[in-house]
Amino acid sequence: VLRVSAVPVVKASYSEGTVFVLNDITRLRNLERIRRDFVSSVSHELRTPLTSIKGYTETLLEGAIDDREDALHFLGIILRESEQLTALVNDVLDLSKLESGKIDYKFRPVNLAEVVSRSIRLLGRALDEKAIDLRVQVPETLSPVYADREYLELVVRNLLDNAIKYVSDADGRIKISARQSNGMMRFEIEDNGVGIPQQDLGRVFERFYRVDKARSREIGGTGLGLSIVKHIVLAHNGHVEVHSRLNMGSIFTVTLPLASKEQQHNQV
Ligand code: ADP
Repeated sequence: VLRVSAVPVVKASYSEGTVFVLNDITRLRNLERIRRDFVSSVSHELRTPLTSIKGYTETLLEGAIDDREDALHFLGIILRESEQLTALVNDVLDLSKLESGKIDYKFRPVNLAEVVSRSIRLLGRALDEKAIDLRVQVPETLSPVYADREYLELVVRNLLDNAIKYVSDADGRIKISARQSNGMMRFEIEDNGVGIPQQDLGRVFERFYRVDKARSREIGGTGLGLSIVKHIVLAHNGHVEVHSRLNMGSIFTVTLPLASKEQQHNQV
């Protein structure tokens, strides 16, 4: 329903006009509904780790603390659930900032190879723990992309973090590659992991959407990583897509504009 209301304005001397205010009520209602759904999903997601933390703490206080082995086991769970809460709060804050549209992106020519190396360093421990065979084909010599370095790094980290989480346990292989053509950079992260069923492919960028809730909880995701990726990439005038085959692996492709000659030149 698109309602159009005509609001007469105080007449200025140069104009006898009337301003038409497009009041798209449906859009406002939708936004309100989306906001309510978000708040209720967040509350639900917070409740799960909190319930677990409370339960195990009570069990410890009721006597389990006297058995060292039990106590260590329960404390381990409490720590893991606390980390999950922290990750969730951080992702919710990031996403709500991104969705408010109030981010002051600092667009500059950015060397993708440097961003990739930094992300790999930050996730190095997880890569080592799973003994992942990582191949990187992102030449230093590629033209810079026009991006906000920090947010671009968040994109790369989220995609690499997913590839590490969902890669094959037995012989994990991840390939990161990039090439440029027609003023755009095509950046890919490929894994040989669990893959995504065809019917879920269109939904993985929705917030809190997870293919396998139980498994994802075990692995420790928030369900917000890909929504964050999508928001940032769109704000960069780029796009992101996924190709995947169940039990074979997934490829996430991000396309971003390269910095023009002028943008490179104006760089201080
Ligand atoms: P999460 O924190 O759960 O990983 P994301 O928003 O990053 O949340 O991803 C949403 C869902 O998409 C994941 O729960 C998972 O089911 C699926 N997914 C994302 N990346 C991959 C991947 N590389 N391989 C398989 N499934 C993936």
